[in-house]
Amino acid sequence: MVVDNYKYIREQVETTARNCGRNPRDITLIAVSKTKPLSDIEKLIQIGVDDFGENKVQELCDKYENVSKPVSFHLIGHLQTNKVKYVVDKACLIHSVDTVKLAKEIQKEAFKKQVTTQILIEVNVAEEESKFGLHVDEVIPFIEEISSYPNVHINGLMTIAPFVENPEENRNYFRTLKQLSLDIISKNIDNVDMNVLSMGMTNDYKVAIEEGATMVRVGTAIFGARNYI
Ligand SMILES: *Cc1c(COP(=O)(O)O)cnc(C)c1O
Repeated sequence: MVVDNYKYIREQVETTARNCGRNPRDITLIAVSKTKPLSDIEKLIQIGVDDFGENKVQELCDKYENVSKPVSFHLIGHLQTNKVKYVVDKACLIHSVDTVKLAKEIQKEAFKKQVTTQILIEVNVAEEESKFGLHVDEVIPFIEEISSYPNVHINGLMTIAPFVENPEENRNYFRTLKQLSLDIISKNIDNVDMNVLSMGMTNDYKVAIEEGATMVRVGTAIFGARNYI
């Protein structure tokens, strides 16, 4: 099931990319395996899948240590400063950086371990109260403040769009995130890349690809419904 689902979604991603004139290779499909067992991950590793998404530090570390072959684990969920030390050298990319305090802690722990931690800035484009992330107008000052941290490398932006019935309702949020990334590029800030736009989930990944996503994070459509968040 999981393998068939993955192949189907990968095909959908590729078709959507081609239909809007994009190269399918420019889009990474992250299989969001949160709450799902290692055995599901192993099935995908067998067919060569390399990118998995987790939203809890403990779960990411457990899976990281127990997979049969090294693969990339993305931390896509909110990160508390007291957990940073466990994950700076394990997550291939932390998608959820949204405070100076958190960025400072990542710098401190990455320095201790002598690694450079790859991050995205989480943007709450839709300004939903319940969600983490910076508001659009806070992003450039934030990046200017943390871009000089030597052991932290900014690769781009991430957003979690609202849960909506019709994915078209999220198109403008994705477009806004893309435009923000272009505005940042035009500022030419040292040590900052904008190669990654992490946006789109089971419900809205096609619209996100049409609007420029380079990473889509798909859980339910690959692994089935979750019992808890
Ligand atoms: C759970 C989660 C996803 C995947 O959501 P689905 O709707 O199951 O595809 C993507 N991104 C984040 C940040 C998540 O927490």
